[in-house]
Amino acid sequence: MQDSIAQLRARVRQFVEQHAIPSEEPSLAHDVQRLDAVVRRLQGVAREAGIYAPHLPPEYGGLGLDWQARAEILEEAGRSFLGAPALNCAPPDQPNMINLLRHGNAAQRERYLLPLVRGEIRSCFAMTEPAPGAGSDPSMLRTTAERQHGKWIINGHKWFISGAVDAAFAIVLARTDTGATMFIVDTSNPGYRLVRNIAGMDGYQVGGHGEIVFENCVVDDDAVLGEVGQGFAYAQARLEPARLSHCMRFIGRASRAMEIAQQYAAQRESFGQRLADLQQVQAMVADSHIDLHASRLMVRDCARKMDAGESVKHDSAMTKIFVSEAVWRVADRAVQIMGALGISDDTPVSMIQRELRPFRIYDGASELHRATLARRIFQYGLRP
Ligand SMILES: Cc1cc2nc3c(=O)[nH]c(=O)nc-3n(C[C@H](O)[C@H](O)[C@H](O)COP(=O)(O)OP(=O)(O)OC[C@H]3O[C@@H](n4cnc5c(N)ncnc54)[C@H](O)[C@@H]3O)c2cc1C
Repeated sequence: MQDSIAQLRARVRQFVEQHAIPSEEPSLAHDVQRLDAVVRRLQGVAREAGIYAPHLPPEYGGLGLDWQARAEILEEAGRSFLGAPALNCAPPDQPNMINLLRHGNAAQRERYLLPLVRGEIRSCFAMTEPAPGAGSDPSMLRTTAERQHGKWIINGHKWFISGAVDAAFAIVLARTDTGATMFIVDTSNPGYRLVRNIAGMDGYQVGGHGEIVFENCVVDDDAVLGEVGQGFAYAQARLEPARLSHCMRFIGRASRAMEIAQQYAAQRESFGQRLADLQQVQAMVADSHIDLHASRLMVRDCARKMDAGESVKHDSAMTKIFVSEAVWRVADRAVQIMGALGISDDTPVSMIQRELRPFRIYDGASELHRATLARRIFQYGLRP
């Protein structure tokens, strides 16, 4: 098994080097239409190469990898902005597939999951709302779904919904009588409106980040995903694997930034010495390797526990905080080592850093995770 994962990883690396990285270009980073076309083309190549959908069970055309193997493959794919989307294991589609696998009924799987798996359609996940709605605190959810004449009427306002531009459906979290409920809403529904694609500092987000309004959006009972009232529980269950998958991909991204910075330091001279011979530069490189090594170990530990069916509530929060901050430090040092070149779009390093910054905010802000960890530590008297 170990051998075959190593071989699979080598194939993913080859794909990333030969297809994904050569398809990157700065003008693509914010061009959602072209990005879609490029990703669709790459998905075909990935399918041919037998590396498509590592997270899905074989009966859904996936590779059926466990979490430990996924840690390897997602890191490798994550070296390129286009690697994970090409393997169809990028958010929001990847966690949406997991939601549909876990909670979708047969008809929902047929209608939404299968075309999503095949890469024929895209999706988004709509939970966050502009103030005063749900952000870090999901209990502030203001989007409602009211029962009227045997239908559900959804009203609300969402934003920063990744993948929303040209998505075929959204999984929407709305307040219902008994808590919150997840609904699958077709974006062709007349009550669903994409207001805009929100411009931001990151790039290469397939489908951008949408602002969405639901105005008397009528859906039937068959739009309910799982059970009514279980929306918060499903959202929570989705977040743990989602944030760990992000950690895996971004370890790949940050290590690529440092690879490029090391190449620069090995050649660039200053005051008669290579940058690589200067102790302050050496310290930045060494600290980055320490950050990446520690990140990998934390992710692998979580992956091992998830494969064993153990809870990673506490560990995944610690891992998300550490990795999101560590990969940011690594990318920041890469920029610093490369001077002006690190700021430019002439190399991917600048975009890698911009892309890593929001990771300290989404999937739970670092402050929120620290507060929750500390509360649990004192509540249960956890030993350090
Ligand atoms: C690139 C990106 C992609 C995203 N994609 C999606 C998506 O696809 N779907 C979706 O539904 N949402 C998405 N989001 C939204 C994301 O989930 C929210 O940004 C996140 O939950 C934080 O909510 P907020 O932005 O409203 O920040 P707020 O809740 O306003 O918090 C702002 C800041 O306050 C601090 N803070 C908040 N609470 C606490 C606390 N308890 N203790 C200490 N400090 C605290 C933190 O520093 C936090 O960053 C995305 C966001 C980004 C940036």
